[in-house]
Amino acid sequence: MTEPLEYEVVVIGGGPAGLTTAIYTTRLGHRTAVFEKEGGRHAAVSHVHNLLGVSENVSGEQLATHAVDQLEHYGGDFFPDAVESVARLDSDDGGDNGADSTDVAVADAGGPRFRLESSHATVDARRVVFATGFRDRSPDVPELERFTGRGLHYCLHCDAYSLGDGSVFVLGHGEHAARVAMTMLNFTADVDLLLDDREPEWDEETDAQLRAHPVDVIDTAVVSAYGDETVADDEPPWLGGLEFADGTERDYLGGFAMYGSTYNADLAADLGCDLREDGAIAVDENREASVDGVYAVGDVTHGQNQTTIAVGDGAYAGLAIHKDLRPFPKSVDELEALEGDGGSDREVEERLADAVPGSAADLRAQMRRVRDLETHPGLRGPSPGRE
Ligand SMILES: Cc1cc2nc3c(=O)[nH]c(=O)nc-3n(C[C@H](O)[C@H](O)[C@H](O)COP(=O)(O)OP(=O)(O)OC[C@H]3O[C@@H](n4cnc5c(N)ncnc54)[C@H](O)[C@@H]3O)c2cc1C
Repeated sequence: MTEPLEYEVVVIGGGPAGLTTAIYTTRLGHRTAVFEKEGGRHAAVSHVHNLLGVSENVSGEQLATHAVDQLEHYGGDFFPDAVESVARLDSDDGGDNGADSTDVAVADAGGPRFRLESSHATVDARRVVFATGFRDRSPDVPELERFTGRGLHYCLHCDAYSLGDGSVFVLGHGEHAARVAMTMLNFTADVDLLLDDREPEWDEETDAQLRAHPVDVIDTAVVSAYGDETVADDEPPWLGGLEFADGTERDYLGGFAMYGSTYNADLAADLGCDLREDGAIAVDENREASVDGVYAVGDVTHGQNQTTIAVGDGAYAGLAIHKDLRPFPKSVDELEALEGDGGSDREVEERLADAVPGSAADLRAQMRRVRDLETHPGLRGPSPGRE
C-alpha cells in the first residue's frame, strides 16, 4: 500500500470558511490540505453582497478560485475531491476507531491523529477541520431552480435589499417561512406567503401575528416559474413570476424558499462529534468540536449563514490550531527535558539549537520564496474583479 500523505491540518470543504482556515494555517507554517467536492452554497452565489472591500460583481465561485490561488501560493495543497471517511488512528478512549493503527507509519508527535479517505487519496492529519456547510432544501416547483440567485433566493440578509419595493414571494409553510414573510415587510409592502398546497405548520401565536400583518397567504399549488421577458436573450435570465394550479399567474421580482436545510455533518457525527439539536456541529469559542483535534467552521456550525461570518470562523479555527500545534514557546519542563537528556553543555546547547526554528526546512523555504516574490501574493487590486 502507498504510504498516506501526511499533513498537520486537513480541511474538508473549500468554501469561504474552510479556505480561510487553510490560508491561516498554511501561512502560520503548518502543512495543510483542503479537500473540496464540487458544489456548496458559495458556488450558488452569483453576486457576493456585504463582503468588505469585495466588488458586488464577484461571484462566490470567483472568490473561492482566488482563495485557492492564495492557498497554493503559500504552499498549501488543494484536492478537488470528496472526503468519504474520517477515522481516528489513535484512540485515547481505547474504543474501536474504525482504522487499523498498527500499519500507520507516522512519526507521532503526540495528540490525536486522523486518517481521511477520499475518492482518490488517503491522507493522515493531526487536526481535522469540517467546513462542509449545509444544503438548502429546494422548492418543489418545476422551472424555478434555474433562477437561483436570480429571483429565487435563500438568504434574507444577502438579498432582501435587492428585492426592495418589488413584488416578493416567500415559499414555505413552516414557522421560519412565516417569520421571513413578516420580516420582508421591512423592505417592501408587497409580500405573498405561498403555501404551495401544504398545511401551515406554524403555531397559533404566529398565525395570529401573521394575520395581523399585511401579508397575503396563498394556499394554491405553484406549478411553474417563468422568466422576465424584458431581460435580453444574451443576459442571464431573471425570474418573471410564478404560475398557479388555478391557472393564474403572478409577476414577482423575486422571493425566498424557506424549507429548511440539512447540515453536512454525517462525517463529523461518525467521528463522534456532538451535534446540536438542529443537526449543526457543536463547537466552542475556538471552533473546536467535542472530539479532541477536530474543528468545525462556517455554515455547518450555526444559523448565521454569511460569507463574512464563515471567514471569521475560519480565522478563529486557524489561529487556535496554530496555538495548539506550534512547537514554541515550550514550557520550562519541556526545555529542561531537552537538557535532561544529558551530555556536555555544548551537546545540550546543540540539541536546543537543533529544535530551532520550529518549522520544517521545506516550510521555511516556502516562506522565503513567497517573501522574495516581487508582487504581493493575494488580492492584487482593491478586490478580485476590479483589476
Ligand atoms: C444563493 C445564495 C446567495 C448567497 N449570497 C450571499 C451574499 O451575497 N453574501 C453573503 O455573505 N453570503 C451569501 N450567502 C451565504 C454564503 O454563501 C454562505 O454563508 C457561505 O458560503 C458559507 O461558507 P462555508 O464555507 O461555511 O460553506 P459552503 O460555501 O457551503 O462550503 C462548504 C463546502 O464543503 C464542501 N463539502 C461538503 N462535504 C464535503 C466532503 N465530504 N468532501 C469535500 N468537500 C465537501 C462543499 O462542496 C462546499 O463547497 C448566499 C448563499 C446562497 C445559497
